[in-house]
Amino acid sequence: MSRTTVPCANGCGADLRPDPARKTGMCLPCYRKRQHEVTPSRAAKISAAMKAKFQDPVYAELHRRRTGEGIRDAMANDEAFRQHRQQLGRQVGNLKLGFSNEPAGSDARMASGRKQSATKLRHIPERYRSLYRQLVASKEMTAQEAALHCRAKAAADRAKPLSFEEQLRRVQEGAQIVRKFKPRATDHTFTLGGVATGML
Ligand SMILES: [Zn+2]
Repeated sequence: MSRTTVPCANGCGADLRPDPARKTGMCLPCYRKRQHEVTPSRAAKISAAMKAKFQDPVYAELHRRRTGEGIRDAMANDEAFRQHRQQLGRQVGNLKLGFSNEPAGSDARMASGRKQSATKLRHIPERYRSLYRQLVASKEMTAQEAALHCRAKAAADRAKPLSFEEQLRRVQEGAQIVRKFKPRATDHTFTLGGVATGML
């Protein structure tokens, strides 16, 4: 009996009808698997391409924002996701890898605390943060009221014309008189609404 089939070149045991159009000698499932296989050289190529992409600050920021939005959305709306993430967070916390392992009052913990509070208080203008803390700690205002109060004070500061002394001080500190920014259509290639694809 003459042999009318050839075995798959990948060695999966499939018998194939000879077909001159079949360049690889593999059956279709094996060929597809091979196509999607991540070999070390392909992995290196993919990794390099990703790293190059993230070198672009616009891309990196966009990615950071998108993933952040996705996570916040899932935390608010997806109970299973929220529980899983909380559990992961507790596991990581229990490893005590970070500054929480350092004694209270240590330099590292103080620095970490300052950084965290700067992040948490980023909606409060810097020069009013101590006032904000005071108002909240004394229970004079709720956190929300204190934030509004501090922002209103900062806005009032900005609206006030500068005294001569203050102008002088700023010039001495390196302030310069610059042309006021007036956007013109010809100045830029992006819209005010977002990021143009040309920048990506
Ligand atoms: Zn095969």
